Amino acid sequence: MRKLRVAIAGLTACSGCQLSLLNCEDELPGLLEQIEFHYFPMALSPALLEGEYDAALVEGCISMPHEVELLQELRRRSRYLIALGTCAVWGGVAALRNGEDRELLRQQVYGLNPLACETFNPQPLQSLVQVDAAVSGCPPEKDELLRLLAGLVRGALPVSIDYPVCTECRMRENLCLLTERDILCLGPLVLGGCGARCPSMLVPCEGCRGPVPESNMKEYLELCAQKGFGRLTVLERLHRFCPERKI
Ligand code: SF4
Ligand code: SF4
Repeated sequence: MRKLRVAIAGLTACSGCQLSLLNCEDELPGLLEQIEFHYFPMALSPALLEGEYDAALVEGCISMPHEVELLQELRRRSRYLIALGTCAVWGGVAALRNGEDRELLRQQVYGLNPLACETFNPQPLQSLVQVDAAVSGCPPEKDELLRLLAGLVRGALPVSIDYPVCTECRMRENLCLLTERDILCLGPLVLGGCGARCPSMLVPCEGCRGPVPESNMKEYLELCAQKGFGRLTVLERLHRFCPERKI
C-alpha cells in the first residue's frame, strides 16, 4: 500500500507544536508504517520540497517574505493544508504586538542595528492561503495530533471541535473557578479539546486554544462584571492568543 506523503513545516513560532508531535514516541513508529514524512526540517535533512503531498501540516504564522513563498508552495503541492496550533490558526502569541510600531519593536529587541531581515505583522495562515482544516491549541494535545494523522491515513480531515472548555471541565466535576472562587477563567469562550487541563489543576483557562465558534459573550461579560472583572480586562485576556480576531 502506498504510504501517505506528509510535509511538516514550521513558520514563525516556537516549534512547540512540532515538538508535541515528536513527543509521540510510542505511537510514531506504528504510524510510520503508513505515513512518510517527506519534508520535516525540524526532524529530517535535507529539507527539500519535492513532488506532491497528501497533506501539509503547518505550524506558526506568517511574518517574513520567505514564509509567504514556502506556504504558497506547500499549498500548491498539497491536497490538504492543515493549520497546526494556535499561531497558525489565530496568529497566537507571535501576533500579540500587532498594531504597535514595528520598527520601534525591532529596535527595542535588537538595538539600533537590527537584523537585516524583512518582517511584517504576523498573520494566521488563512490570511494568505486556503486552509482545509485546523487543529488549535498551544500546543495541540498529543491525542489530537495522533487522531489527525490516523484520519489522514483514511483520507479524512479532523472533525472540528465546537464546544467550550467548560463542557469538559464540568464532565470532570471540577469546582468552577469563576462562579465559585471568583477567579477570571475564560473557559466559557474557549475551544475545548484539552480536557480542561488547566482548570482541573485550579489554574484558570487563559484561552490558548482560541475562541469557541458560538458563545454567549454578553452573559459572560455580565457575570465577569459581577465578579469585579471589567470588560477591558476580559477582552485583553481573550486577545492574548488570537490578537487578530475582532471581537
Ligand atoms: S501554538 Fe503555541 S506551542 Fe504551537 S508554535 Fe505557537 S506558541 Fe508554540
Ligand atoms: S473553571 Fe473555567 S472552564 Fe471550568 S467551568 Fe468554570 S469557567 Fe468553565
